[in-house]
Amino acid sequence: MRLLLVEDDLMVGEAVRKGLRLDGFAVDWVQDGKAAEVAVAQEDYELLLLDLGLPKKNGLDVLKSLRARGSQIPVLILTARDAIADRVAGLDAGADDYLIKPFDLEELAARIRALLRRQSGRADPVIEVGQLTLNPATHEVRLEGCEINLSAREFALLRAFLDRPGAVLSRAQLEEKLYGWDDSIESNAVEVYIHALRKKLGSDFIKNVRGVGYMVAKTVAKVVPDAVPDGVPK
Ligand code: CA
Repeated sequence: MRLLLVEDDLMVGEAVRKGLRLDGFAVDWVQDGKAAEVAVAQEDYELLLLDLGLPKKNGLDVLKSLRARGSQIPVLILTARDAIADRVAGLDAGADDYLIKPFDLEELAARIRALLRRQSGRADPVIEVGQLTLNPATHEVRLEGCEINLSAREFALLRAFLDRPGAVLSRAQLEEKLYGWDDSIESNAVEVYIHALRKKLGSDFIKNVRGVGYMVAKTVAKVVPDAVPDGVPK
C-alpha cells in the first residue's frame, strides 16, 4: 500500500510518515501542492493524504485539478482549519473524508483502511480469498483458521495480491507497492518475499505468469502448505 502525504508542516509530516510506515504503508512525502501534482502524475498511489494550506498551490486546487483530470484516487484531507466551510469545500471538490489536526495516528490509519476498503468495493474489513483471511487492522493472517506469522514486507506483498486477486502483478508493480522513495530496495527482494510466502502458504499459492509477473488466483482452492503449521484444525 503506497500513499502520498502532502503536508508542509514538518512535525506533522514526520510523525504521520513514521506512524504509517510502522503500520506497514509505504509513504512518500511532499511539502507543496506543485510537488504533489508531479508525484501523483508519476507514481501509482493508493491514497492521497492532503493538507489544505500548502505553498505553491493550495490543497483544494490540487484536489480540484486531480478530479478534473478524472483521477479516482481516494483523498483524505488533513487540515488545521476548523472552519466548516473549508471542510465542505474539500468534500464537495471530491475529497472522500477529512481529519482535523491535531489527530490521532490510530484514527488516521483506521480512516485510511476504511477508504481503501470502499475503493476496492468491500464492506467487510477482513479480506478473504479462498481459505486465507487477512485483517488489515490487526495484520492477522489466517490459513484455514490457523494464524500465519508474516514479516511486515511479506504482509504488504500478500496484501497487494489479495487486493486484486486474479490480477497479474509485475515485479516493478510489486516493488512500487512495497517501497517509497526513501526506502532502499534490496535486489531480488520481491522474489525473496514471494519465496517466503510460498513456504508459509503453499507453493501453488502465488503463481508465476511467465514473462509478466505473479498472481494469486481469484478463488484459491484448498491450499496445502509445504510445511503444515502445528495445530491445524482438521
Ligand atoms: Ca499546511
